Amino acid sequence: MDRLWAPWRSKYIESFSNENPNEKKECLFCEKANSTDDEKNLILLRGEHCYIIMNLFPYNSGHIMVVPYKHTSNFPDLSNDEMLDIMKLIKKGISALEIALKPHGFNIGANLGRVSGAGVAEHLHFHIVPRWNGDTNFMPVISETKVISELLSDTYRKIKDALSRVQD
Ligand SMILES: [Zn+2]
Repeated sequence: MDRLWAPWRSKYIESFSNENPNEKKECLFCEKANSTDDEKNLILLRGEHCYIIMNLFPYNSGHIMVVPYKHTSNFPDLSNDEMLDIMKLIKKGISALEIALKPHGFNIGANLGRVSGAGVAEHLHFHIVPRWNGDTNFMPVISETKVISELLSDTYRKIKDALSRVQD
């Protein structure tokens, strides 16, 4: 389990927090939620209480996240409506990934707190990572290449299209 979850670590923080340590940074997930350019931000779907976004530093192709609009790091802060909406979007995300990418399995979950490996520890988010037989062999390779950023927009369109075909 350790190895499976460890890659979801602080790349977001590393890439956003080095410029001026005195300047208070806005939370990445709040910033994305408040923005209007969903395609540029790779936001796939907006629900009532949460949204689906691609992971910029995917652990695997099609790695998406379900993020509540509420800014909290504390899981018990979520209301029943928010929890239900998170589960609904996780379900939709899985269905869309099955259509778009035909994975053999999924890892689904959250890292709560920096010590657990959370990259953005101050704002809860839930990972959905498609898995394929044998994918552990090539993942470290693709995550280090620049090609991934081009692939991300392709994958974005594929998943977005699949999402529009998923029933509620
Ligand atoms: Zn936030």
